[in-house]
Amino acid sequence: MSKIIDGKKLSLKIKDELKEEIGKLKVKPKLVVISVGDNPASKVYVGQKEKAANYIGIEYLHMHYDSIKDDDLIKEIEKLNNDHMVNGIIVQLPLPSGMDEKRIVNSINCDKDVDGLTYLNAGLLINNKETLASCTPKGIMKLLESENIKISGANAVVVGRSILVGKPIANLLLNRDATVTICHSKTKDLAKITKKADILIAAIGKKHFITRDMVKKGSVIIDVGINREDNKLYGDVDYDNVYSKVSKITPVPGGVGPMTVVMLMENVLLSYKNHQDKK
Ligand code: NAP
Repeated sequence: MSKIIDGKKLSLKIKDELKEEIGKLKVKPKLVVISVGDNPASKVYVGQKEKAANYIGIEYLHMHYDSIKDDDLIKEIEKLNNDHMVNGIIVQLPLPSGMDEKRIVNSINCDKDVDGLTYLNAGLLINNKETLASCTPKGIMKLLESENIKISGANAVVVGRSILVGKPIANLLLNRDATVTICHSKTKDLAKITKKADILIAAIGKKHFITRDMVKKGSVIIDVGINREDNKLYGDVDYDNVYSKVSKITPVPGGVGPMTVVMLMENVLLSYKNHQDKK
């Protein structure tokens, strides 16, 4: 088996499986993506979602506003909450400064919160009820499962404690019986902790922050970081130097990134099925 955990390959396989399953449905699942402002990275991410939805056969609607008041946006979200043809709603983050992201995201009905970012879905995750789990962490779990990596009892260290990645992946690992340590910018003697990790998740946002001396021999390294420099992407892990010391590692690009968008599509289908079950 290869040492490289190939997220691109796995994501393509899952995409085709979703396409086949959705191809058999009479009424297609529908995803609505809302964006505000002109963040260039958001444009790229919205485009990736549209491309994946079109390929898989998910109906896709992009609602873009150059600017909009919080209350007006929430009214639009409420309309979508009440539209039984809509299965998934995403507010593309970050919103322009001054907008209340938390209030806006939490106005999404938790059944349609396919990004898994509402307080309710985050709370369900803590309670070991993974309904619509957030997409990047869900993708990481798929990668670990696809490689048959033993999670139960493993020492898992997560560097980063964001709502988007660090906290949900820590909870998903804990729900699978890993012993989880979460590190952040105030953690003392970080290397001493990371060196004990059987599974190390790097979600920091700093190019090549995790160096060879910080990892355990034979460990599994999941690099979530996406750092752009001179039109190139770099992970949070110093891949070239870490590679020979570990047993498995995700590359950047081609590791966690491709899984995120595909997990979003899986969540849209899940939300659709949950909706059908309730009818
Ligand atoms: P974030 O919200 O900025 O969080 C970064 C985390 O790293 C924070 O918890 C921060 O600690 C911690 N950190 C920063 N400097 C540190 C240091 N010196 N030592 C230890 N911890 C430190 O970022 P995020 O949204 O979680 O994203 C992390 C990275 O993943 C970014 O590169 C992002 O682009 C990437 N990402 C990739 C995907 C994907 O699909 N592949 C999806 C989402 C994000 P404090 O909390 O103490 O500040």
